[in-house]
Amino acid sequence: MTCVEQADHRPESLETIADLTFDPVARAAAAMNYLCRTTDAEFVAAAERIYRWVEARSGSFGWVTERIEDDGQPRDICEICCLMDMVDLQMLLAERGQVDLYEVAGRYAANQLAAAQLTPDRISALAPTSSPDTTSDRETNVAAIDRLTGGFINSGHPGDFARRKHQGSQVLFPFIGLGGCCGPAGVKALYRIWQHAVRATPDGVEINLLVDHLSPWVDVKVRVNARGRVHLVVRDPRRFLVRPAHWAEGTPIRVSANGAPLRAEIEGNVLAIPERQPGDTVTIDFAVPRRTTEERLGGRAYQVEWLGDWVVGLDVPDARLPVFADRRGHIERS
Ligand SMILES: [Zn+2]
Repeated sequence: MTCVEQADHRPESLETIADLTFDPVARAAAAMNYLCRTTDAEFVAAAERIYRWVEARSGSFGWVTERIEDDGQPRDICEICCLMDMVDLQMLLAERGQVDLYEVAGRYAANQLAAAQLTPDRISALAPTSSPDTTSDRETNVAAIDRLTGGFINSGHPGDFARRKHQGSQVLFPFIGLGGCCGPAGVKALYRIWQHAVRATPDGVEINLLVDHLSPWVDVKVRVNARGRVHLVVRDPRRFLVRPAHWAEGTPIRVSANGAPLRAEIEGNVLAIPERQPGDTVTIDFAVPRRTTEERLGGRAYQVEWLGDWVVGLDVPDARLPVFADRRGHIERS
């Protein structure tokens, strides 16, 4: 049986599958990529059933359970590989009309994926606190920072990158996972986000994901703190179709072009900016609501604080390496 056929048959028996996201979701993504070259609607339907099943058992900020345990409970571990497969499916399904998934993919990328990427500061925080004894040790530490920057912490509990191994009720030791699988998977997920963020269509240039992006048609800069701002620098005379987040519905959105107010209409589920000329700037200002959601992940409930689509708080009392620890302060300082 080919992987495409397996993906088509799996949705009926997903609950019995141990290797949840390394297996059927990867196959569904493979089937969907295959589908790009065919017209078989059954494959799309099968892939979407698998996607929705996993989505319902994952955190809305991109924490994707890596498997379902034998007792039927989602394991409390997310790997970036699993997140990447979900982003892959989101983009493929969005292209086929499930446009709500652009926003979901943006949440995955802005939160779990972005937080997992290693920066020099984060690597230094992970390094031992004792001073290196020798020049060789110091050189090793510097080399480690150079080599790891841009990579991804491959796995984590909800709100905590420090993995725990249990023996009964005893925690044996915390550790950080750096897997050869998740490093390239994280880069692929970022690429998928970039690839689909801005797209030229006969109706205009779609801006589907609120991330910074340069293209032949427009430069996009996104800033979010107490308020949100999308800044466009026009490179090609087009109209622009900006997909606002669901939480922006009913909130005031101000649009200006070269500093003067500009009338922009909501068309369906996009904000339509009339055609502008190269060099023009367009600014979209919007309110960013705060909200709190409760999410049940890996058998435990978590309170997640949001600023728009950005997680600013997910406090886990016993976290050794909190995932979003630096965000609330950053938002309040900005
Ligand atoms: Zn992995």
